[in-house]
Amino acid sequence: MPRRNICSFCQYDIPIGRGIMYVRKDGTILHFCSKKCRNAMLEQKKNPRKTRWTKVYGQE
Ligand SMILES: [Zn+2]
Repeated sequence: MPRRNICSFCQYDIPIGRGIMYVRKDGTILHFCSKKCRNAMLEQKKNPRKTRWTKVYGQE
């Protein structure tokens, strides 16, 4: 069943059929809308609340 996914980093909706699914070693499934978000979270380890282009920027 197709269902809506939310990007684990920027929190925006991911259109059906788009995006990247990533499974951590502990089994946690992460969805990313783009490589940009994947890199930001997994490689650069950025905080989405401190990253200007995310939906949660500036939120507590
Ligand atoms: Zn994203």
